[in-house]
Amino acid sequence: MAATSGSIFGAMLQEFDGAARILNLEPGIWKILTSPKRQITVSCPVQMDNGEIEVFVGYRVQYNITLGPAKGGIRYHPNVTLDEVTALAAWMTWKCAVAHIPFGGGKGGVICDPTKMSKREIEALTRRYIAEIVDAIGPEKDVPAPDVNTNDQIMAWVMDTYSMHVGHTTTSVVTGKPVELGGSLGRREATGRGVMIAARESAKHVGFNIKGATVAVQGFGNVGSISAELLAQEAGAKIVAVTDWKGGVYNKQGLDIPKLLQYTQQKKTVDGFPDAEPLTNADLFKLEVDVLIPAALENQITAENAPTIRAKVIIEGANGPTTPDANKLLHDRGVFIVPDILANSSGVTTSYFEWVQDRYGYFWTEKEVNERLEAKMCEAFSAVLQTSIKYKVDMRTAAYIVAIGRVATVTRMRGMYA
Ligand code: NAD
Repeated sequence: MAATSGSIFGAMLQEFDGAARILNLEPGIWKILTSPKRQITVSCPVQMDNGEIEVFVGYRVQYNITLGPAKGGIRYHPNVTLDEVTALAAWMTWKCAVAHIPFGGGKGGVICDPTKMSKREIEALTRRYIAEIVDAIGPEKDVPAPDVNTNDQIMAWVMDTYSMHVGHTTTSVVTGKPVELGGSLGRREATGRGVMIAARESAKHVGFNIKGATVAVQGFGNVGSISAELLAQEAGAKIVAVTDWKGGVYNKQGLDIPKLLQYTQQKKTVDGFPDAEPLTNADLFKLEVDVLIPAALENQITAENAPTIRAKVIIEGANGPTTPDANKLLHDRGVFIVPDILANSSGVTTSYFEWVQDRYGYFWTEKEVNERLEAKMCEAFSAVLQTSIKYKVDMRTAAYIVAIGRVATVTRMRGMYA
């Protein structure tokens, strides 16, 4: 697929090319790994509550299915494009390969504004979208999950619609479901748990004790709040700063995270939390802390604010929080960055666990899920760290080298079907 200027897929290709060159990837495999396997576009007519019919455009991209079924979320947003969905499906390919789970990469998106739709309209759209792509998905083919503006209820409708089409209950067609209908214990906390593990392992490598280490977190949603909670409770770190969409809070003695969680449940923001000083997002990036965790949006660490960053380690909880220019500036200054495709891969690893449990029909305790997650995350972290040492590259390039190397090896072994 040709990269056009400003294309998100073009940005993915840039990251791919850097690692593929170091790997000396042969031109044929290079072509295969930079071509989306399948891009499906569907029109989804839905009768709205006012009686009128709207037609929504939906996409499902299976970027690469060499290692196993495509895996990736479904996004509902007015700005969804095929270019974006394709790039996100490619990133899922590399994330699953780094995490060392038997999945390819996929992504779905529907152009819609769910904030302006009723629950019934969202259900009708979900069911029609799934009906349109029903032949392309399935436990052995493509396993969707939640993404921006989709949640466990929507995944329950995905599971039900697919099951109605095939004539039997198939829980393993989708992950991120409610626990009552085949979801996994530990899934909600999984990404934050992986961020905590990545921070702990980074501290060991860089050479400081995570116990008592200072941490600043941007974003206090699913990833940010659970990372903060587990880093404080299980790793003994001191969370000194948290910001969100509205404001931020700082306490150099350490914030009381359980109290902050209670506060945000009521107020929907950390802003105004007592026993702390107010803090802006810009100031968060200037703090002298051991660990900085961007866990909100993309493109937050840029060439402008990178020179002000004084953290020793950055763990990318969010997807794409660091621009390529900022990444280079920080790496040159010796800041240790754990890239998104490794740092937040525990979400998809636990989705894999959900799929395994559904197919098995036998469910693990939360302790078992967490133990297996710990093992998988440590394995992935170590593989990327060893690769970064071997090739003398940053952790981001190393993560791509590991991922592309794994998909390339299996592509070569499987050979050409023609
Ligand atoms: P979320 O919606 O639960 O939380 C997002 C947080 O970011 C909120 O606290 C919000 O207030 C804050 N935020 C929004 N705009 C901000 C701004 N301008 N400045 C500072 N903070 C702002 O989302 P989430 O599920 O925690 O996801 C966060 C990031 O992690 C996203 O990039 C997402 O793609 C990525 N991610 C999430 C998961 C997962 O399992 N949830 C897995 C992998 C990657």
